[in-house]
Amino acid sequence: MRPFEYSRAADVASAVGAGRAGARYLAGGTNLVDLMRLGVETPDRVVDVGRLGLDEVTETDGGGVRIGAGVRMSDLAAHPLILERYPVVSQALLAGASGQLRNMATIGGNLLQRTRCVYFQDVSKPCNKRAPGSGCPAIEGEHRGLAILGHSDACVATHPSDLAVALAALDAIVQLAGGRTVAMPGLHRLPGDDPSRDTVLEPGDLIVGIELPPPLSGPQRYRKVRDRASFAFALVSVAAAVDGSDVRLALGGVAHVPWRCFTAEEALRGGASFEQAADAELADARPLRDNGFKLTLARNLLVRTLDDLTHT
Ligand SMILES: Cc1cc2nc3c(=O)[nH]c(=O)nc-3n(C[C@H](O)[C@H](O)[C@H](O)COP(=O)(O)OP(=O)(O)OC[C@H]3O[C@@H](n4cnc5c(N)ncnc54)[C@H](O)[C@@H]3O)c2cc1C
Ligand code: SF4
Repeated sequence: MRPFEYSRAADVASAVGAGRAGARYLAGGTNLVDLMRLGVETPDRVVDVGRLGLDEVTETDGGGVRIGAGVRMSDLAAHPLILERYPVVSQALLAGASGQLRNMATIGGNLLQRTRCVYFQDVSKPCNKRAPGSGCPAIEGEHRGLAILGHSDACVATHPSDLAVALAALDAIVQLAGGRTVAMPGLHRLPGDDPSRDTVLEPGDLIVGIELPPPLSGPQRYRKVRDRASFAFALVSVAAAVDGSDVRLALGGVAHVPWRCFTAEEALRGGASFEQAADAELADARPLRDNGFKLTLARNLLVRTLDDLTHT
């Protein structure tokens, strides 16, 4: 690992000051430190944001819930407010990583974790995301776990967070230091011709919290298909939440962003069957040579989850 300077921020203002001056934020370190060991991330300065007091889950005046960016995944998954009002969030968290990792990893870090594309993690290989302009070997190479929707000629990576999929379905709001907010699913961006940028955040932006709007009226579900029953990223996942006669849907494991299914939602409002809604959502999918199975998985997962929820 390259030498780097470590400091611990005492408050949000000093963390942001360090971030604006080029330091990388360190939360649980479960992704950043791994990538530094691999030589993928090479910060000269790292500022620890683990003791900023951003570790509370509280009710908001508007009837929603605010989650501090430093809350640990395991604490959030077990929190009574989340279990009772936003079970899809708890289910998504518990479907990810392992017990030990969830005890370390934070909500802010989870949303900003980087893709698991094998070429991104291997500095001996070209990769447009890590080294802009060097090429994308995944398009012709190992891409079984990568995107079928929204990808570009520059990058076919997927975003790995399960939590982000649940937050995208719930219209969560990401709160940044300084007061700016970003509505999910708008935090992450499609690769276009600049895959080096995973999100709409600028260097130095610090996530301080997530706000969940007041709970929806109906049942919620997170379902994840993966190669192993634990400790594996999603091949495809779905977050679904019913609100009266409406349903919110998002897919994971299929794109560079948590994929909110606006087309399927609209089709369902217009009286389409679950199968028709899923087909409408996936009409623009462009599977790669080895990941066409994801299209079938995504369709079946949408249909089955909708079917389950309407019989809950
Ligand atoms: C073996 C393994 C399996 C895993 N499986 C899954 C899985 O199935 N599903 C899943 O969702 N995740 C999975 N993960 C990923 C894990 O959930 C993430 O590594 C973790 O959530 C990152 O959180 P962290 O606090 O450790 O972030 P860090 O590693 O500290 O930071 C990650 C990134 O976020 C930035 N950052 C951190 N906090 C902030 C903030 N407040 N504001 C702005 N930037 C910030 C950092 O600068 C860094 O770029 C797995 C990880 C491993 C190692
Ligand atoms: S898919 Fe994206 S992350 Fe993977 S090699 Fe191509 S450019 Fe890099």
